[in-house]
Amino acid sequence: MRRNRNAKIVATLGPASTTRETIEALLKAGADVFRLNFSHGTHEDHQRRLEIIRSVEQEMNRPIGVLLDLQGPKLRIGTFLNGSIKLEQGNTFRLDLDAETPGDTTRVALPHPEIFAALTEHTNLLLDDGRVHLRVERCGPDFAETSVVVGGVLSDRKGVNVPDVVLPLSAMTEKDRRDLEFGLTLGIDWIALSFVQRVEDILEVREIVQDRVGIVAKLEKPAAISILDAIVEVADAVMVARGDLGVEMPAEQVPAIQKRIVRACRKAGKPVIVATQMLDSMVTAPVPTRAEASDVATAIYDGADAVMLSAESASGRYPVEAVRMMDLIIAQTERDPYYREAIAASHAAPRADIADAIGYAMRHVTGLLNAVATVAYTTSGYSALRMARERPRAPIIGMTPRQSTARRLAMVWGVHSVLCHEVIDVLEVSELACRTVRNEGFGDTGQTVVISAGIPFGTPGTTNLLRIAQIH
Ligand code: PGA
Ligand code: MN
Repeated sequence: MRRNRNAKIVATLGPASTTRETIEALLKAGADVFRLNFSHGTHEDHQRRLEIIRSVEQEMNRPIGVLLDLQGPKLRIGTFLNGSIKLEQGNTFRLDLDAETPGDTTRVALPHPEIFAALTEHTNLLLDDGRVHLRVERCGPDFAETSVVVGGVLSDRKGVNVPDVVLPLSAMTEKDRRDLEFGLTLGIDWIALSFVQRVEDILEVREIVQDRVGIVAKLEKPAAISILDAIVEVADAVMVARGDLGVEMPAEQVPAIQKRIVRACRKAGKPVIVATQMLDSMVTAPVPTRAEASDVATAIYDGADAVMLSAESASGRYPVEAVRMMDLIIAQTERDPYYREAIAASHAAPRADIADAIGYAMRHVTGLLNAVATVAYTTSGYSALRMARERPRAPIIGMTPRQSTARRLAMVWGVHSVLCHEVIDVLEVSELACRTVRNEGFGDTGQTVVISAGIPFGTPGTTNLLRIAQIH
């Protein structure tokens, strides 16, 4: 099974995608990576889905990436006596630590002591995805008096966003630690960290996971956007998490930020996922709106590695149709002659180092000789990432002896990963590469293949070899 497109699809699994039948259908329709969203569901739910994924993976003989998305420090208010209240503009409303007493029209609990310490006069609080807007007038270590800037209905346990301040919270809660520990025992490939604010948030997770999984930094806080390059530098991949980002920042700023993030990631050669509401209307309808089709295409023209489905595939009525539609939009967009032009025009110069010089040469050689495929023999995945950074015309075969690498590369632009045995010399790499290109249906006798590898073999980060071979 090979895709006829470069950009990848991340499909979130949920109640609408639990059976083996559906998961297999999602994969066939185009899902390359499955996202297990730990904001919802039990460990058993996720474990069952993962077992199905691995069994389908084996049956189809195609490495599949699994992304475990941690909930992160999502703040929530407490409950109300009657389930909900209505706030009018200009009212005063109090938030405090008293979780025992149910809320009413004058107050509700906000059971996060750390937050009160970080609030100051005039801090903005956005509740229920930004529908309700409060401004702090007075505050102390265990309360905040606010005035209602935008009123509305507020019900139990609605989320609270505090865009203005860097909150004194780790990006991992106790629940996240347990979820991560559980995920590591299951064998996942990527971990996504929500509400990243600082570089240290990522380093903290790195300490735990080491190189067992790749770390995706979800960019949904203004604080993270203001140190974008530093975050991209330490993360293994990035997600443009437009859902919360669009609450924390004005909606009209999100498009430009999205493009900035994609540009920064492409420059650094880190995979970038554009996420949330991409085909949102397909939660309830079998076809997307024109605006949604255009949104997916825009991410593709910008050169994103992957586009993501959330509710569309997790809880919508048309999960398989949504993946199929995304697959069609990507493939169609990439066939537009302007796509190549757009990708070339937005390509940042490589770094002046050996790995990038190899990638740079590979792209030019591939074009000049009209090669049918490029092959990166890679243990850690690094060579394949540097090749993907170049966005070559021919598909990239990520040939790796490491299963975790094969799975991780499923999220990377243009990479078709293949598990192989460990090789020891250059001749063997060439022969194996040519055989793999033929077996996987990318080329035939007489056609040209461009290969990159690192010598000594098996040492990560040593990409230093470019070889041109002909399939015989
Ligand atoms: P979420 O993250 O779906 O876990 O909230 C994505 C986003 O905020 O866009
Ligand atoms: Mn989010």
